[in-house]
Amino acid sequence: MRVTAARFLGAAATPRAGPAPGPPEVAIAGRSNVGKSALINCLTGRRGLARASATPGRTRQLNFFLVNERFVLVDLPGYGFAVGPERERRAWKPLVETYLRERPVLCGVAIVVDARRGLEREEEELLSFLEHAGRPAAVVATKLDKLARNPARTALARIAEQTPAGMLVVGFSALTGEGRDDVWRVLRDWVELASPGRE
Ligand code: GDP
Repeated sequence: MRVTAARFLGAAATPRAGPAPGPPEVAIAGRSNVGKSALINCLTGRRGLARASATPGRTRQLNFFLVNERFVLVDLPGYGFAVGPERERRAWKPLVETYLRERPVLCGVAIVVDARRGLEREEEELLSFLEHAGRPAAVVATKLDKLARNPARTALARIAEQTPAGMLVVGFSALTGEGRDDVWRVLRDWVELASPGRE
């Protein structure tokens, strides 16, 4: 995917806030610090588009990025954060779940996991939530550069076993760019399905 334009559209800190529904949206979900911002920056080729922060869970809002004036990447706030005010931690669920359940233009959800950790309870809960909500999902196993070739293959196979049959699992590294085209293919398919009559 050649990205010719990418810009920040807006943010939502409360359910149903944020930009009015427009072009198809693909959401990027995952625990804090897993590499969601790095994924978005690598996909768009814009180093500073999504802020990659060393502080887990500092971003507690949905961030919307318009790509090629055609579709929107939505960076969801990370779940599983153990730090931060209780009030903000409690706010996560309604914020993210309302978006995932109700957003009319949402066409797919990429769940980012650390390739070394695979799916844990939070990811399994999210998968089952998405299944109930009827949302297409795929798993992006990131930080693949931290594993040698054989352990990487084993890790991806294990993650594939943890996911529902037929769900795509894509290995990725924001550091090396490995898997970038594969991730784009998944996202593009969702967007094209949601934009009948284009291309
Ligand atoms: P977010 O909280 O999910 O948005 O996570 P970030 O994108 O801010 O990444 C968290 C940390 O992991 C940062 O220090 C990144 O540099 C690092 N990171 C993210 N993706 C990768 C990757 O593919 N490989 C390596 N080695 N580090 C990564």
